[in-house]
Amino acid sequence: MEIDMEEKKGDLLSFTREELTEYMEKTGQKKFRAVQLYEWLHKKLASDYSEMTNLSKTLREQISSEYEIYPLSILDKVVSKKDGTAKYLMATKDGGVIESVAMNYNYGMSVCISSQIGCRMGCSFCASTLAGLERGLKASEMLAQVYLIQKDMNKRVDNIVVMGIGEPFDNYEQLIRFLGMISDESGLNISQRSITVSTCGLVDKMYEFADEHMGVTLAVSLHAPNDDIRKSIMPVANKYSIDEIMKACRYFSDKTGRRVTFEYSMIHGVNDSGECAKELAGRIKGLLCHVNLIPLNDVDERDYRRSPDEGISVFQNILQKYGINVTIRKGMGSDIDAACGQLRKKYIDKKVTG
Ligand code: SAH
Repeated sequence: MEIDMEEKKGDLLSFTREELTEYMEKTGQKKFRAVQLYEWLHKKLASDYSEMTNLSKTLREQISSEYEIYPLSILDKVVSKKDGTAKYLMATKDGGVIESVAMNYNYGMSVCISSQIGCRMGCSFCASTLAGLERGLKASEMLAQVYLIQKDMNKRVDNIVVMGIGEPFDNYEQLIRFLGMISDESGLNISQRSITVSTCGLVDKMYEFADEHMGVTLAVSLHAPNDDIRKSIMPVANKYSIDEIMKACRYFSDKTGRRVTFEYSMIHGVNDSGECAKELAGRIKGLLCHVNLIPLNDVDERDYRRSPDEGISVFQNILQKYGINVTIRKGMGSDIDAACGQLRKKYIDKKVTG
């Protein structure tokens, strides 16, 4: 994807360690300076060149004349009184707005990041897609969401889920660059096993992703047990059938040895009947997988409502009877519009109406 940001300064945070090494060599510096700079940027999370005390002042001045460090700034932050979940609105240099969320679990802090500004997948129950796609985020902008949150919360990020605004596989190259850099041992060194990427099911990219040999978990937004229901809520279902998705999931788990997570948002009267549960069980039986039932977050612009809690439990029980591993997602930050795209949408609407 072409990114025209009319930036005055270059995108330093997107440089891999190898690219920084090339840069240092080109400017006549010693190679090891690249590792030092990479560590300042990606391990110590320096936001100002003055912190980089083991680099000469001349070198720092040279780099700072060409490159700005952070491509994002925090616009707003809302913290849940219920569970401490913090939702961030962040602004890109070209005026885009994205959301990221920090959630505290007993196993550590998990951060949910956006991969695009807006989305063009058009899922009918999702607020992120209502205004369409502006552009994919650069790797630096995905990294900066994690870094800014770690600095703001003053706590190490343990897990990352790429489940915020956007379709990560619609921004594939930058996503792969991000995953490599966030797990780099000279950077934050977050284990790939602690990272989950969620896709609406772009099958071609699912195969490519399996072939990257990363230890990252793949989550697939299934949301329906058959193509008819899926087509009624997810336009992408007109391009790829559930059969094709299942084949790609099998390929992924064979290749990586990792189980796939199926996300299933429970929409009342659409996909939450006992029949749907049985059909779903038949579809995924025998696959190395796990189902995560997500109580729908109501979106004002849409008619969909969440399934009642008993309905979700019944659905879970049916799947379990068929031997399927299934959990219900804990609603984090329900008092702060923590669902995908809702805070951003409110912000944009407010700007439009003054
Ligand atoms: N584009 C990717 C990742 C972003 S959305 C994907 O489709 O997987 C993360 C998850 O939240 C997806 O499963 C998405 O379908 C789901 N989601 C979106 N809007 C929702 C809503 N209003 N309630 C519950 N889940 C929702």
